[in-house]
Amino acid sequence: MVILGAAESGVGAALLAMQKGYDVFVSDGGAIKENFKAELEQNNIAFEENQHSEELILKADEVMKSPGIPDKAPLVKKIRAKHIPVISEIELAYRYKGESKIIAITGSNGKTTTTSLIYHICKQAGVDCALVGNIGFSFAKQVAVAPKPLYIAEISSFQLDDIITFRPDVAVLVNITEDHLDRYDYKLQNYVDSKFKIVMNQTENDVFVYNLDDETTMKNIKNYTIKSTLAPITMSKELPQGAYLANAKMHMKWKTEEMQMSVDDFTLKGKHNQYNSMAASMAATAIDIRKEKIREALQTFESLEHRMEPAGTVRGVSFINDSKATNINSTWYALESMNNPVILILGGVDKGNDYNLLRDLVKEKVKAIVCMGTDNRKIHEAFGDIVSLMVNTENSTDAVKAAFHFANKGDVVLLSPACASFDLFKNYEDRGNQFKKAVKEL
Ligand code: ADP
Repeated sequence: MVILGAAESGVGAALLAMQKGYDVFVSDGGAIKENFKAELEQNNIAFEENQHSEELILKADEVMKSPGIPDKAPLVKKIRAKHIPVISEIELAYRYKGESKIIAITGSNGKTTTTSLIYHICKQAGVDCALVGNIGFSFAKQVAVAPKPLYIAEISSFQLDDIITFRPDVAVLVNITEDHLDRYDYKLQNYVDSKFKIVMNQTENDVFVYNLDDETTMKNIKNYTIKSTLAPITMSKELPQGAYLANAKMHMKWKTEEMQMSVDDFTLKGKHNQYNSMAASMAATAIDIRKEKIREALQTFESLEHRMEPAGTVRGVSFINDSKATNINSTWYALESMNNPVILILGGVDKGNDYNLLRDLVKEKVKAIVCMGTDNRKIHEAFGDIVSLMVNTENSTDAVKAAFHFANKGDVVLLSPACASFDLFKNYEDRGNQFKKAVKEL
C-alpha cells in the first residue's frame, strides 16, 4: 500500500497498515515534520520526502491519500487513470475497527464543537471512548495504538471523498455552507455530495442526525437514498421524534425517551451552539446515553479555545476570541449571539466573502469595526455607509488597543474575523493567542 502524505492522517494510516501486515511505502511531496519522521523511523516504515517516486507509486495495489492532497494533483490523476483504488484514512481505519461503534460528525461549521461535546457527554456517562480526527489522534492511529469500543470522529469532506464501506452507527451533519469550493471545481453540488456520503452506507439500524433548519441540507436531502433512522433537530417546529427548541427549552424525543432542558443551562452560548448542543444530545441519545448524564454534561462543558472563548474583561469591556471564525457564516452566528454593543475585529484573507450577509447584524449590533488584514478594501466597501467608526490595523496589539479605545463599559470586543489568518499570522491559533496576549497587556 502506498500512503500519500505524511502528517497525522498519513502516519496514522501507515502505522495501522504496517500493523495489519501491508507492505507500506509513504511518500510526501514536501518536507516531513520531524516528529512524524521519527514515528515512521521507529516503526521501520519506508518513506520518502520532497519527492514522489512515480514508477514505484504507480505499481501500488492500493493508495491511501491524505485529505490535504487535492484530486487535481498530477500524481493523483495518474493513479486514478491507472484505476488503482484510492481510499481515505477513515476507510482504512474502518476496515480494522472490529465491533466498535462510530459516531461521525461532519458539516461546514461546528464540527469540532459538536464532536467535543459528544465526547464530553460520553465521558461523563462513563463510556470508554476516543476522540479522533481533528483533535487527538487520527482515526487510523487510534485503531492502531489504542482501540476503543466507541470512536467519536470529526470528519472533513475530504475524508469522505474516498470512502467505500465506511459506515458510522451515528452520523451527524451539522450544516452545509459554502467552503473549500476550490477543492470541488467551484461547484457547491460536489461539496454537498461529499458531505452526504456520511450516510451512504448506513442502514435502518443506524441513525442520521441533521438540521431541518439548514437550507442547503434540506434542499438536497431528497436527492440521496437514505436508509438510516432519521433524527432531525430544529428551532422552527415541534417534532414527534428528534430534538427541537421551543420557548427557550430543548425538547428531545427518541423512542420512549423524552427530555427537556432550558437553554439557559447550556454552558455553550449563542444560537449556533444551541444547534450544536441539540445535535450532540441527539447523537448521545441515539447510543442510549441516559438523559441525566446528557443534562449534566451540557451544564459542565467548557468552551473550546478560539471559539467564542472569553478572553477577559478590562474596565467593564469584555473580550471574546472567536479566531476560528474563518468564514462569514461563523461570524454571522457570533454576532447573532451578542447582546451588548460590539466592537468587531474583522479581516484577513477572505475566500470570496459576501459581506452583505452580515449587514443587518452589523447595523443592529456593531458600533465600530477594526480591520485587521493587509487588504481591507472590501470591508470598507461593505460597511462604510453603516458603521462610522472604522480603522485599519496590521497586528493584534494595535487592533486590541483601537478596539478598546472605541469601547465603553458594557461593550464587547469581538475578534471574529470571517477570514483566514495567513496574511499576518501563522494560523488561527496564533491569531487567537496574540489577541489574548494583547488583551492581557492593556
Ligand atoms: P469546525 O470544526 O467545523 O471548523 P468549530 O466548532 O471549530 O467548527 O467552529 C468554527 C467556527 O464556527 C467558530 O467561530 C464557531 O463560533 C462557529 N460555529 C460553531 N458552530 C456553528 C454552527 N452550528 N453554525 C455556524 N457557526 C458555528
